[in-house]
Amino acid sequence: MAVHVTVIGTGYLGATQAACLAESGCRVLGVDTDEEKVRALQAGGVPFYEPGLQELVARHVATGALRFTTSFAEAADFGEVHFLCVGTPQRADGLDADLGALYAAVAALVPLLRRQCLVVGKSTVPAGTAERLAPLLATAPAGGDVDLAWNPEFLREGHAVRDTLRPDRIVAGVRSELAEKVLRGVYAAQLDAGVPFVVTDLATAQLVKVAANAFLATRVSLMNAMADLCESAGADVLSLVQAVGHDQRIGAHYLHPGLGFGGGCLGKDIRALQAQAHRLGLEPVAGLLAHVDEINTARRGQVVRLAGELCGGSVAARRVGVLGAAFKPDSDDVRDSPALDVAHRLHEAGAVVAVYDPAARANAQRSHPWLQHVGSAAEAAAGADVLLHLTEWEEFRALDPDDLGGRVAHRRIVDARNALDADRWRLSGWQFRGLGRPA
Ligand code: NAD
Repeated sequence: MAVHVTVIGTGYLGATQAACLAESGCRVLGVDTDEEKVRALQAGGVPFYEPGLQELVARHVATGALRFTTSFAEAADFGEVHFLCVGTPQRADGLDADLGALYAAVAALVPLLRRQCLVVGKSTVPAGTAERLAPLLATAPAGGDVDLAWNPEFLREGHAVRDTLRPDRIVAGVRSELAEKVLRGVYAAQLDAGVPFVVTDLATAQLVKVAANAFLATRVSLMNAMADLCESAGADVLSLVQAVGHDQRIGAHYLHPGLGFGGGCLGKDIRALQAQAHRLGLEPVAGLLAHVDEINTARRGQVVRLAGELCGGSVAARRVGVLGAAFKPDSDDVRDSPALDVAHRLHEAGAVVAVYDPAARANAQRSHPWLQHVGSAAEAAAGADVLLHLTEWEEFRALDPDDLGGRVAHRRIVDARNALDADRWRLSGWQFRGLGRPA
């Protein structure tokens, strides 16, 4: 018998989770308060860009294995397992996570739970959140028959489908053997394929996710700090990374120096952890994370400075062509996007900024309507005094420096992602600058 699962919150995480659970053989009902999103998903569409997801949603909606609704009553009747996948963004008034959507979803669901079920937190939360939700679940009509587990998610946008169908590991924070058994049933396809299944308690499960993000963010910022050292010492950070990455204790992933991290997760998660560490009196932890964040944000100022340097001292009244608006390639997500932040800072400094992104144009236009948003790299380059490569889409790697050279006012480029072939651009007469690389 297929497990009946609901996924509450159908954004980047939840829509992917819902489609992949259907692919794994569950009957799935996605729930969201956003009627427009629900309508789009129920029509077999995906209201954001994620490679491979549209096909999966369309296929499973067509068979009826995957449905979407705004009704919590329908969800409560349907689900044996309820995954909580709502957003937990940074609070507007500080570094903490805003858990308002999570509490709202639980408040809407709990009074309707009349049958035995397992509520599973997937959203990223500060440790201790699950423990505060547990007494709320106990007030459900089904009372003690409603159990709670935490099952953090590690998917990467741009690779979300693959990461969900075949994750590196599944973490199950549980309070009962039954909860573990239920989760093993939901993830049977992954477990059969040999995906490691780590069973732990609720507190550890919540912390695994933020610990992993803190580790990844620290690696990126450490290597970006090394890039600054390389620039001062006349060294090449790309050779350094290659040599360091061969060390098996370190490994080559998440070492790439450049403009740093952004998006809806890494930044807000290390800030929430910083706030929690501070509250617990763990100042060294809070201080470490504050430095990681600070190094990351400073990259953006550095690119603006480099652009000014290439323009002879200032970007005021200069035309700047920006390649990339999404926080990473293969995504249209512009939350805390380093590329858009740089574009915005240039605009503030008086530059005329034209931005091109292969997938994120609409989102970028919505969040930064004061910038020019154009439909191709050639349009962004037209008349530019300097070109900035800020999101490493494959399309940009394939650009022809000779062709673009004929469109710009000056052949100057900053490769803030260290992803372009510097020799090729220089051969074509471009003044080429990478972060942490010899001028
Ligand atoms: P998102 O903003 O794309 O999606 C959140 C969804 O929740 C939206 O569709 C919103 O309408 C819906 N929602 C809000 N309040 C609701 C309510 N009361 N009831 C039902 N639905 C509600 O966010 P996201 O990127 O999918 O992130 C969700 C969670 O997953 C966050 O905690 C995030 O940190 C975590 N996460 C995200 C990723 C990622 O790559 N995006 C990866 C791992 C973990």
